[in-house]
Amino acid sequence: MTPLTDTFGRVHNNLRISVTDRCNIRCFYCMPADNVQFMAKAKLLSFEEIERFVRIVQPMGINKLRLTGGEPLVRRDLPTLVAKLAAIEGIKDIGITTNGILLAEQAQELYDAGLRRLNVSLDALNAEKFAEVTRREGYEKVIEGIQAAKAAGFDPIKINAVSIRGVTEEEIVPFGHFARETGCEVRFIEYMPLDADAAWERDKVLFADEIIETLSKEIRPLIPVPNSDPRAPATEYDFNDGIGRVGFIASVSKPFCMNCNRFRLTADGKIRNCLFSLEETDVRSLLRSGTDDETIRQAVLDSVMAKEAGHEINMAGFVQPDRPMYSIGG
Ligand code: SAM
Ligand code: SF4
Repeated sequence: MTPLTDTFGRVHNNLRISVTDRCNIRCFYCMPADNVQFMAKAKLLSFEEIERFVRIVQPMGINKLRLTGGEPLVRRDLPTLVAKLAAIEGIKDIGITTNGILLAEQAQELYDAGLRRLNVSLDALNAEKFAEVTRREGYEKVIEGIQAAKAAGFDPIKINAVSIRGVTEEEIVPFGHFARETGCEVRFIEYMPLDADAAWERDKVLFADEIIETLSKEIRPLIPVPNSDPRAPATEYDFNDGIGRVGFIASVSKPFCMNCNRFRLTADGKIRNCLFSLEETDVRSLLRSGTDDETIRQAVLDSVMAKEAGHEINMAGFVQPDRPMYSIGG
């Protein structure tokens, strides 16, 4: 079968699957503080529907999956889904992005089910700042979760830290030391306009170059990692003594759209060809109406063929999508 390729020649092998829009914390750059309208349970794809979708797209060259949300670990019996997906021939690796609150309870079961790549989101290395960003308690649980994940066998573990001007500057150096001491790669993500409150402004983005400068000055010079995957969103650097790695997802200052190899399935069964897409394809209704595999593949192909060259965050006419990050699946 021909690999899933868009009109710009970008081959798509990577699918992000959101398993829920629910979450046990309320990061201000993602969710509203309260009164969140979650999707009705009946609208969520079942594990069987997700599995069928992956089996349908795998022959198009999809071999990498990442589970996300909302908070994926609040979806009941998640290891069951991981095991179903790991059993699909041709799926080479399955990752997850989690806030880590429930990780201590689930790490071993998830690892045993076949999950290997683990990204834990953590924006601060102290409980007070954690609570300011997430509007909930839970810092210690995340740290326990990371420890439990290590003990379960996850390696590497990557930490995702959103970088927000006026909020997280003081976390940069502690995270640099954390990367050196724990061996976890810390990836700084530029704050993107996907917050439910639509309060994003370009001035609130703490740019990758500024963080590189701070780490180089305060800890040690950073040198780019040679031969890192050009299709991966993060640009990676090592400290010049070889101890500690950091990465930068510079979606705002250095968009990497021309290397994009991913598309998304939302928890309510919509395909999105980009985080910033204003359109989506309803695959749930196809899955629930007895549609054959070939027609579903055609819907996926049509969606990917409609993918734009890149997002327009840096342009005057940028329009923020209606769905905030927690509802798309980051
Ligand atoms: N709840 C899980 C978590 O936080 O890891 C998975 C879903 S979350 C939407 C996925 C990733 O998106 C997290 O690393 C989070 O920090 C990031 N994220 C959410 N909103 C963002 C925004 N406005 N800009 C940049 N990254 C964002
Ligand atoms: Fe929840 Fe993740 Fe959004 Fe934070 S970023 S509110 S943990 S979904």
